[in-house]
Amino acid sequence: MYEYVEYKTELYGIDVEQVDPENTSRRCSHCGFTHPDNRNGEEFVCLKCGYENHADYNAAKNVGLRYLRRNQTGDGGGMLKNQRFLACH
Ligand SMILES: [Zn+2]
Repeated sequence: MYEYVEYKTELYGIDVEQVDPENTSRRCSHCGFTHPDNRNGEEFVCLKCGYENHADYNAAKNVGLRYLRRNQTGDGGGMLKNQRFLACH
């Protein structure tokens, strides 16, 4: 399922905010654990590993990490896309 979403995202030229804002805000950017209770308003606290961060920052990090991972085999274009997302956010 996730693979498909990422593939689709790439096809449409990467419009992060339309991908899945719900899940990125509930996913721990540290260990990957996803749960609605991870998020408490503006706060993000992972129920599994205890990672704490601002909820929106954690979400942005999730999306950024996804791109970085996808572009790691490339020439560093991942950083550029990550910055673009942050600018749009
Ligand atoms: Zn975690």
